[in-house]
Amino acid sequence: MTLSNPWFIAALVGVLGVFHLEIIATFLNLGQFRHALPQRLKAIFTDETVQKAGEYAGKSAHLDLLRSTISVGALILVWWSGGFDWLQRWSAGWGWNSVQTGVGVIGLLMLVQNILSLPFDAYDTFKIEAEYGFNRTTPGTFIKDRLKGLLLTALLGGPLLALILWFFQTQVHAVLYTWLTVAGFSLVMAWLSPRLLMPLFLKFKPLTDGPLREALLALAARLEFPVVDVSVVDGSRRSSKANAFLSGFGKNKRIALFDTLIEKHSQEELEAILAHEIGHHKCRHVPQQLILGLLESGLMFYLLHAALQSPAFFQAFGVTGQPLGLGLVLFSILYQPASLLLGLLSSALSRRHEFQADAFARAACGSTPLIAGLQKLSLDHLTHPNPHALTVWLHYSHPPIGQRLAALEA
Ligand SMILES: [Zn+2]
Repeated sequence: MTLSNPWFIAALVGVLGVFHLEIIATFLNLGQFRHALPQRLKAIFTDETVQKAGEYAGKSAHLDLLRSTISVGALILVWWSGGFDWLQRWSAGWGWNSVQTGVGVIGLLMLVQNILSLPFDAYDTFKIEAEYGFNRTTPGTFIKDRLKGLLLTALLGGPLLALILWFFQTQVHAVLYTWLTVAGFSLVMAWLSPRLLMPLFLKFKPLTDGPLREALLALAARLEFPVVDVSVVDGSRRSSKANAFLSGFGKNKRIALFDTLIEKHSQEELEAILAHEIGHHKCRHVPQQLILGLLESGLMFYLLHAALQSPAFFQAFGVTGQPLGLGLVLFSILYQPASLLLGLLSSALSRRHEFQADAFARAACGSTPLIAGLQKLSLDHLTHPNPHALTVWLHYSHPPIGQRLAALEA
């Protein structure tokens, strides 16, 4: 573990660089609340709303900063005190083969991380979200959701991880096989998720017959979009925040609207929101994001392969030998800055897609109902009216409200 090891320098610069960049972005973004709003937004956001949104953003940001400071501190402590080597020697004593040990080590670390994040998530849900009237989750549902999530990760992720470790252990073309397996897995999950996984967390009920159902189906028919089912999802059991989504391949599209969305929006606004979602499908945004994701994972597995081959990579973390499973964990530390950079690309693409879907909805329903719907969502969710460009760049999958309204009114 010396300064002459390039892996050590890269990991240290990466971890500290990402940490400090996030701090700078957070303070710039909160600082935006001290500046006057652009004229267009003044008409929508009252001073009182802006103040409330600022307090909400501040409390959430401070919790995130505390969380990341503790996790970076803990990482450096484990790293520099020889904790990774201790873990390697301890797990070698289990007497398992390298694939089993790898799954065990990664599973154990994920479990520890999950337990450590519990108080932060609970504070966020039951203190901050509750204070602003968003939370509707009970402690029972909160715990059950987490247990279900852990169980699903173990059942689906465990075998996948074992297969990936086995490829890296035994195959010369491990990168290619891993990449193809992950590509196949994401396709199966995209198909499986709305049918099997989401119903484990949310209740789907058919939207009752009536003018709203007729209007939505008529809109889908007019836009030549083959919808087989419109459902209502009981999002209100967890949060007052609203959402809409579409799923399905080919001629089996399903629309799902959160009950909270239906509660708060007029029929015209719901039609415009549906038109926006249909716009995403018509413009082929899903396959574009999928392809970008696959390119990214291909690059990641290639870099992972390079790291696992190098004894110096393991030495950078104080680990003797080249244990496979622990190698994956250490690589995830090193990969942070690359993942941030690639994330910029996919967020930028996603923001572009939002403008395209908005334009599609405007052509289908006119701009008025979508503008009204977006304003309402923005006010209801206390979104930052005027986020800083750096934060938008780093984290926003949707353009800020001001930019979307400007594009719709243009
Ligand atoms: Zn969208």
